[in-house]
Amino acid sequence: METARSFSHLLKGQNPPFSLAPILNHFGIYEVRTRILYPELARIIFYGGHPIIEVNSLFSEENHRFSVGHELGHVILNEANGKDRFAISCDIKEEEEKADIIGRELVIPSWAVSFLTPRNGLQFQKASMSSLTLKNVARYFGVGAKVMRDRLVKDFGWYEIPNKK
Ligand SMILES: [Zn+2]
Repeated sequence: METARSFSHLLKGQNPPFSLAPILNHFGIYEVRTRILYPELARIIFYGGHPIIEVNSLFSEENHRFSVGHELGHVILNEANGKDRFAISCDIKEEEEKADIIGRELVIPSWAVSFLTPRNGLQFQKASMSSLTLKNVARYFGVGAKVMRDRLVKDFGWYEIPNKK
């Protein structure tokens, strides 16, 4: 996580949605391209000797950003575990969950979450999260609402207040 946070610091000075280009460059990832994939959301493959990330064109753009973050999560985990940077991890549930957490840190950095207060016009509070504001904040970061929710609830322990009818 420390490593992931040091990478998400590379995005400082940008406004959301953050371009992951500095991190992709760091790891020598040549290109991100969209392809129809089944069943995975994204993968890292070698093309002409260059590592590239393919994201699934069957999913929307906002899913792509998180998918790229997730794949970068695998790269960061591989390096932390002393493996080859682009070693394939074979669907180990624990690894997938860790890659998700790192992916969320990269697309929604901790330092940027710390700015999420009602003051900057996000109509968003730690103690109350309606799905409307969740959608707004998700759009602000260029991610899907589910990823945004997981980020705040799973990673930061914020809680949701059910929608009033
Ligand atoms: Zn994965």
